[in-house]
Amino acid sequence: MCTPLNLPKEQSLPQQAMQVVPFQRSAAAMALVSAQLAPAEAVFCHANEAIIITDADNCVVDVNPAFCELTGLTLEAVRGKTPEAFSVLPLDDDRTTRLMRDEIQLRDRSKSQVSYRSHDGKFYPGMMSIHRVRNELGRVDHHVIVLSDLSTIPSHARHLNREVYFDALTGLPNLQLLTQLIQESIQHAETKQLPLAICALDIDYFQAINERLGPHIGDILLSTFAQRISHLLFGDDVLARVGGDEFVLLLHHGVDEGFFEKLLVSIRQPLVIDGQSIHLTASLGVTHYPSDHVQGDVLLRHANQAMYRAKQRGRNTYHFFDPTQDRLLQVRHEQRQRFMDALDHGELRLFYQPQVNMRSGKVVGVEALIRWQHPDEGLLSPGQFLSIIDATPLEVDLGEWVIKQALQQLVEWQTIGITLPVNVNISPAHLLVKDFSQRLAELLAGYPRVAPEMLKLEVLESAAMHDVEAALKNMARCQALGVGFAIDDFGTGFSSLTHLRQLPVNLIKIDQSFVRDMLSDQDDMAIVESVIYMANRFKRSMLAEGVETLDHAKALMELGCELAQGYGIARPMPAEELPAWLVQWPERSDWRLLTAL
Ligand code: C2E
Ligand code: MG
Ligand code: MG
Repeated sequence: MCTPLNLPKEQSLPQQAMQVVPFQRSAAAMALVSAQLAPAEAVFCHANEAIIITDADNCVVDVNPAFCELTGLTLEAVRGKTPEAFSVLPLDDDRTTRLMRDEIQLRDRSKSQVSYRSHDGKFYPGMMSIHRVRNELGRVDHHVIVLSDLSTIPSHARHLNREVYFDALTGLPNLQLLTQLIQESIQHAETKQLPLAICALDIDYFQAINERLGPHIGDILLSTFAQRISHLLFGDDVLARVGGDEFVLLLHHGVDEGFFEKLLVSIRQPLVIDGQSIHLTASLGVTHYPSDHVQGDVLLRHANQAMYRAKQRGRNTYHFFDPTQDRLLQVRHEQRQRFMDALDHGELRLFYQPQVNMRSGKVVGVEALIRWQHPDEGLLSPGQFLSIIDATPLEVDLGEWVIKQALQQLVEWQTIGITLPVNVNISPAHLLVKDFSQRLAELLAGYPRVAPEMLKLEVLESAAMHDVEAALKNMARCQALGVGFAIDDFGTGFSSLTHLRQLPVNLIKIDQSFVRDMLSDQDDMAIVESVIYMANRFKRSMLAEGVETLDHAKALMELGCELAQGYGIARPMPAEELPAWLVQWPERSDWRLLTAL
């Protein structure tokens, strides 16, 4: 435990109140003193903050050089006086402050905002920490008071406009001052290579508490709460109030999980106000500079983002902002914005790939496949951009755009005498949207010349498995409209036989990965055989995807699969190329041979 410091006599300065009195000593004397002083005394001597030692009755026993510099007062001028007597004043004296003081009375450590009179005779804002030191019998022996100058941050102009920079209720810096302080802290952290943490703190369910207790007690609660948090801070840490029950901590000392655990524990201790015990919890969001290397306002936003995550995680907890994760999310966000623009500005288009009956040679339909005609990157295939909109509402926007576009294309082809059903790919999430069939009906109603039977929806096998009931319901409703279904990429999604029996599908598409290797890989051949066998048993049509060669085609026909789609027949093409392809397809002698098999 510390005892009051009895500094060497030469440290006392002549009385020169209200003047700048630098604490002057010769370098030699300084060196001598430094060498002789105990570590605690050295701290007292060299601290940047003003330190006042008072006795049990709070009368000054000693002050340090920083105090003399800050206030222009000498030890002689203040010895035996209480800090209030030489103009270190608490900020307010209303009931709130009194209640807060009562709480302080119970504590051995306290921290509060004060005004102090500086050497120029003017009042400046300061932060006063009081540490009450007790003797072995538990009686107060003396006080160590540390007075930090808030006026120098960031400029001397601040004190002139208290209401602009400080919150009236708690006396804490407000958002305006905090913004400046963050800026300075960043500079400080940069030049001194020191850590900086910004913690957004929001009291949980404060609105409900405020409504229950009334705004007056609510205000006292906020002030007392602020006081309690202030006590947990070190040196030049800052607590600011930036909104109703929103606070921000600016922490200049390396803080870890342990610090925030302790903060939460302290917040959870009941506050006694007007005899009522009130329990609060808070959610904390923390970001660290320089690992989160951004501007001050962005730092604050990141701390808030993390705080909202803490709320989502159930409140009464803390969450650390993750800059790497955030950058990824940012990139995703930008990509999505770009995709939305593409959708709005007509950069997306459908290509069409023919589907044929290999035995008859007849073209049975086309599959619509999305492409992005990117102005800088050229023609992009879905594998290059569909993941951008994964699990976002954009899946539905794109799905609806594709359906509309396909219906429009059907109309255009019909006018030139081409009547081919179009298969459209629907994302799993889109299929499971509650009003999917209703929206489809509305879209179909917009194209009365198109028979619903001309549209078939391709859904991935896995889509139906996600929520079988919802999928079945929506599929049945669409079928009632006349729209058919195909299961896409069959064999990749672990469908059980039960589901296959239940699913109201008109077509099973054997995944191209099995077709591609069926001639060289026994296992893939076995899968293709099994799928064809199953489809036959369940009396479903089947189509092989990825048919690239005549050999594949022949093998598939021998196994009983006659419908096919693949590069060997045609690559996906723009709509305007289809009429010419349809004309030349019957002339393809290689494929005509198959019809004789
Ligand atoms: P998918 O529905 O299974 O479509 C078949 C894919 O295989 C297409 O790729 C097609 O170009 C490609 N393909 C066709 N024949 C062959 C072949 O002989 N060999 C090889 N190697 N590939 C062949 P694409 O156009 O890149 O589309 C990939 C996937 O993207 C589609 O697979 C589908 O799942 C999805 N997709 C395409 N368009 C849309 C769309 O409009 N909406 C949604 N939600 N998904 C789409
Ligand atoms: Mg498909
Ligand atoms: Mg497929």
